[in-house]
Amino acid sequence: MSDLFNSSLRQLAATLTARKISAVELATLFLDRIDRLNPGLNAFIALDRDKTLAQARAADEKLNAGAGGTALTGIPLAHKDIFCTKGWRTSCGSKMLENFVSPYDAHVVEKLAGAGMVTLGKLNMDEFAMGSSNETSHFGPVKNPWDVSRVPGGSSGGSAAAIAARLAPAATGTDTGGSIRQPAALCGLTGLKPTYGAVSRYGMIAFASSLDQAGPMAKSAEDCALLLNAMAGFDPRDSTSLERPTEDYARDLEKPLAGLRIGLPKEFFGDGMDADVRAAVDAALDEYRKLGAITVEVQLPNSGLSVPAYYVIAPAEASSNLSRFDGVRYGYRAPEYSDLAEMYSRSRAQGFGAEVKRRILIGTYVLSHGYYDAYYLKAQKIRRLIAADFQEAFKVCDVIMGPTSPSVAFAFGAKSADPVQMYLSDIYTISTNLAGLPGMSLPCGFGNNNMPVGLQIIGSWFGEAKMLNVAHQYQRVTDWHTRMPKESK
Ligand code: GLN
Repeated sequence: MSDLFNSSLRQLAATLTARKISAVELATLFLDRIDRLNPGLNAFIALDRDKTLAQARAADEKLNAGAGGTALTGIPLAHKDIFCTKGWRTSCGSKMLENFVSPYDAHVVEKLAGAGMVTLGKLNMDEFAMGSSNETSHFGPVKNPWDVSRVPGGSSGGSAAAIAARLAPAATGTDTGGSIRQPAALCGLTGLKPTYGAVSRYGMIAFASSLDQAGPMAKSAEDCALLLNAMAGFDPRDSTSLERPTEDYARDLEKPLAGLRIGLPKEFFGDGMDADVRAAVDAALDEYRKLGAITVEVQLPNSGLSVPAYYVIAPAEASSNLSRFDGVRYGYRAPEYSDLAEMYSRSRAQGFGAEVKRRILIGTYVLSHGYYDAYYLKAQKIRRLIAADFQEAFKVCDVIMGPTSPSVAFAFGAKSADPVQMYLSDIYTISTNLAGLPGMSLPCGFGNNNMPVGLQIIGSWFGEAKMLNVAHQYQRVTDWHTRMPKESK
């Protein structure tokens, strides 16, 4: 019982349905761990024991009745604070929404609660999901449980730190340019960004709408598959939600990998990657060869343009999305102003942090008359070329692999003074979002200073089940995903 905090979701479900533990006891176990370990990590920024236990009691009633439960009933999880959660403060890591209590649930929150999962609390994040280190949060940085002098990655850093420290068995995240995969890599977890349109964005505070996707973060690929089953599906409230037949993302987990063709883009294996990361990724590829996979070289000739194109498109969309925060309808309002224009400008000047303001300025600039064609339109054309490169590559391979992040977790302050250095943290993840493809990160070893390294798998459009199969087969023969930081035991 005592190591339940390190169990898989299937193990938790079996323990709950056998009634060896109640959902209330399980939630309490995690809440007690949060009380003990969160002060040193700052992963959770909202907790409400009464609310959590009420949800757990409802799950127990279902489980006691022996019917009406799902594979996830009674299992606790926590939400990135970008998801509107009814009755919970939903801050998006910003002073702007410090006092905003959501009157409704995001689609993803509703679906996971509907599956019987129990909300442990809300998780810290970079402000409005802009960042790669969690240093831009209004609520202070999140610490990496493997080494608290290092960043957990971002923007879903709270989600990653919470799972790594076993304060939650699973969490939600969002990925606009890498924010599920990069923190998963830096904290030794498995995280999945679905194909654009597979998971509804309703109630997920918008950063860059054409790139944002919600996805699961957990210890293993199998856990991610079970969570994705509950999260994905058509939602008429999101105009980009895709109407497709529902799938069981766990259906192919056990398929052998003999004959699998792994594409290795030569652009992902160049100079940018640190030697320790490279060694771990190479070892993982050898493991795949032992499982019967073959590797083929592929080319993504425009991938070098992904970071510049992203930093035009994402800020452009952000500048438009964030215009709703004007101090009028909700969010922070400056205490003093002399007229309406000053109320807007002071509320925004005081409510947003520096990185968010930088993005709004860039976005407004690239969309302005006279620069639109030169920047925004150009970036959109590059985006199309990047997608076409992937389409070409998938003609000769089933999945693409490479590193998730060019380095292991870095120290606080190492990149925060230089935005371009910080932006390069996502050099291997961003092209996936620009192309709308699904991507995953899974732990594949340890690098310098004993920090976790992530292997990235990129699937073809709607190739989640294949990607999860590929990840799960690796996790059957390796145990990186079961390792946890010593201090968290
Ligand atoms: N780090 C990237 C950025 O700052 C990606 C963020 C994300 O995926 N939300 O924009």
